[in-house]
Amino acid sequence: MQPDLVCFNPACRARFGITEVLYNCTTCGGLLEAAYDFSGINASELKTTWRERRMSNDPLCQSGVWRYRELFPFLAPEDEHNIITLREGNTPLLKAPRAAEYGGLAEITFKHQGFNPTGSFKDNGMTAGAAQARRLGMKRVACVSTGNTSASMAAYASAGGLEPLIFIPNGNISYGKLAQALEYGAKTFQVEANFDQILALVRVLAERLGIYLLNSINPFRIEGQKSIVIEMMDQLDWQVPDWIVLPGGNLGNVSAFGKGLREMYKLGFIDRLPRLGVVQAAGSSPFYEYMLDGGKTPFHAQQHPETLATAIKIGDPVSWPKAQFEIETTNGVVERADEQEIADAKAVIGACGIGCEPASAATLAGIRKLTAAGVIHRNASVVAILTGNVLKDPDYIYRYHTGELKAPDNSPIRATFGNKPVLVPNDADRIAELIS
Ligand SMILES: *Cc1c(COP(=O)(O)O)cnc(C)c1O
Repeated sequence: MQPDLVCFNPACRARFGITEVLYNCTTCGGLLEAAYDFSGINASELKTTWRERRMSNDPLCQSGVWRYRELFPFLAPEDEHNIITLREGNTPLLKAPRAAEYGGLAEITFKHQGFNPTGSFKDNGMTAGAAQARRLGMKRVACVSTGNTSASMAAYASAGGLEPLIFIPNGNISYGKLAQALEYGAKTFQVEANFDQILALVRVLAERLGIYLLNSINPFRIEGQKSIVIEMMDQLDWQVPDWIVLPGGNLGNVSAFGKGLREMYKLGFIDRLPRLGVVQAAGSSPFYEYMLDGGKTPFHAQQHPETLATAIKIGDPVSWPKAQFEIETTNGVVERADEQEIADAKAVIGACGIGCEPASAATLAGIRKLTAAGVIHRNASVVAILTGNVLKDPDYIYRYHTGELKAPDNSPIRATFGNKPVLVPNDADRIAELIS
């Protein structure tokens, strides 16, 4: 049986060919997902194969995404030459005792997706989306992005001979991310509109000019992002943690995690499902609001999302129906953290020698609240996903540590764990005094 694109809406489930250029179901407008015939899969044999591939010099085996390609076989073997790999994935699991204590846990493990080639988990999905673009014979690819998607898409498109077109909200992006997009050669348009408005604009342009869209609605990016939980389980020797906690913006990543976990469970790679915890920024938390009553009232987009954690500043997350399904299936929870909570959690992660960008720190801030509320038990095994690299947003860091950081409403953020540079005279005695 061929892989298919299938409408995610349970009342529709319309099927489409895997090479049709579609972002939504043409019958009901629902989200699409890739569906496979997994009947040949043998979990224990594949676990061994995947371990052996870590020793290989074959680029696809070295990739922490494509090493696991049997669980997202949307490319026929004869199409695999379309894959562009920058050796994405291969991100570490890191213990962090001080962060655990701050989060109210006996122990915490961070899976740091900021170790990716362009510094965020977007690379796990982008290598898959870019491969599909090349397989379809596309020449141009585009995305709307708060930053990391554009950095990632620019790199993979340029590495694969595609022309990257990037649309960003004017004045709402960190310099680290914009700089990457420019350096990787993307044609970059800053538009006077918010993220959600620009997404609508780009969908019109994509249709008109035959550009392939690599936003997180793209089902192949979701397939690539499944590799984050597959690699995590491989690294944990298939021992399932109690919780996996991640930040939520457009909610593509939690959708990918849920799908990957369900598939691994069904195919016998793991013997239970972990619970998923999604943390949103309080100023940009439409999914949190929606799930407060279990998702019974209609979903309301937020018109003016505000947070310094720009990677999760999204008022109208496209993947919320999938995210709702995955939260319900895993008995998960949705939490929110305010600007002060995110900033302090971020400094704690930094002080562990690990570091991350603001959106990533929402995980630890949310965990601290969930343990205090008794939702996550102190002795639970918890893997928190650090989604982006510490250097993505250096301006934020400097301002926090010097007490100059301000929330979007201009209220000051306290430098609870501030670490200011100290101005000293060129005088050894004086400096020695200050050190001791
Ligand atoms: C994209 C991104 C997120 C949000 O992920 P979604 O899939 O949109 O929910 C969180 N953190 C970072 C660093 C990101 O780049």
